[in-house]
Amino acid sequence: MQRSSCRIVSYKVKHGYDISEFLCGYRYLLQRAIDIIWDSIEWKKKRNRLIPIIPKSKEFKRTLRDQLLKDWNYASHYVDSAIKTAYSILNSWRRNYIKGERGRYKPVVKRKFARVKETLYRFRDGKIIITIKPRQLYLEFNLSEAWFRKRVKGCNLGELILKEDELIITFRKLSHTPSKKKIAWDLNLLSIDGFCDKGWIRVDLKPLYTLHITYENKRRKIQRLSKTKPKTAKRLMQKYSQRYRNRVKDFLHKLTTMLAKEFKDYEHGFENLEKQGMFGRCKIHNRVVSKQNWKQTIALMSYKTNVRLLNPRNSTKTCPRCGGKMKHRRGQVLECERCGLKINRQLNASINLYLRMWGFPPSMKVWLELIEPILRRSGVTPKGDETDDLLPMNPEGVEVDVSQGGHMAIKDHVC
Ligand SMILES: [Zn+2]
Repeated sequence: MQRSSCRIVSYKVKHGYDISEFLCGYRYLLQRAIDIIWDSIEWKKKRNRLIPIIPKSKEFKRTLRDQLLKDWNYASHYVDSAIKTAYSILNSWRRNYIKGERGRYKPVVKRKFARVKETLYRFRDGKIIITIKPRQLYLEFNLSEAWFRKRVKGCNLGELILKEDELIITFRKLSHTPSKKKIAWDLNLLSIDGFCDKGWIRVDLKPLYTLHITYENKRRKIQRLSKTKPKTAKRLMQKYSQRYRNRVKDFLHKLTTMLAKEFKDYEHGFENLEKQGMFGRCKIHNRVVSKQNWKQTIALMSYKTNVRLLNPRNSTKTCPRCGGKMKHRRGQVLECERCGLKINRQLNASINLYLRMWGFPPSMKVWLELIEPILRRSGVTPKGDETDDLLPMNPEGVEVDVSQGGHMAIKDHVC
């Protein structure tokens, strides 16, 4: 688990090494990895379309590695890096293929580059030394004179990308002064829900959702057209896909800039999506779209502000007051099986993540001293009746609820 907050920055350094042969070899290796995986793809028929299933089993990966190692003359870790890159290329091809933006063509690697994993270089006395061939061929890069050396003081080196005339170096910037203020975000299809000392922050994502739906409809129309006018359809599809991507990017840029500005000195906590398998109930399409958006959101946030990735385990199912199991009630309401707390689903998740950011397990003491005062301050009003989509809860045995007005909404970003 990533505990400290970090952001990633990258810098380029020019070099004069002749590594063309190595990079050609790596490109060939990467292409072979893609070829082998491609040939083992299983195509499943689904509503007149063929859906690719990319093989991912451990045995498959092991044989793939052995096969690639056979005629690879450089450090063997490059084979692992090529396999990882091949998978990420094929996964992104698959995403676009399913959206109808790419055909059934095998991706071809054109650019010459090599990903240099952390096991393939060392960094000492301001110098990066990259292993190309163990005990035979190393490349040395002196950073002690680099213009950015002051900016990255105290940073950890991440992955490197070696190109023909330059080296791209990524640094993980660890913040030494952890923020005193924290905000935890729960990402949903129609909203982003945050929890911090100001209470429940709700950001409306409906404009983004509308954008997806509009594009979806356009795409369907174009697909119908492709039967009679394939060329026009192809041109239109490209035009709209580009526009759609730009609009989504634009929306997410505005959104993240606004959040980073609004909560400037905060540490922003997000669920680590790599470790998540939680969207069981939503439709597959929504899942793919929103997961993509969330990944982009987190990536954008991490270079605009302080971001920390949190373990998402059970954040939606746990009671933040007693640690009990939450059960679904009508609408967006969850109820704790053990202590009877009733709370909005999204707020519950963001409070759980907020507690995780501080390192508190759910407990009555923390609830009473930390969470409840925030909720009260931000507009919890004692009420007797419970309403469907509102947020009833029951601290100290008093019936209270946070009405829909109890959260702070942020709406000034329109696309
Ligand atoms: Zn409970």
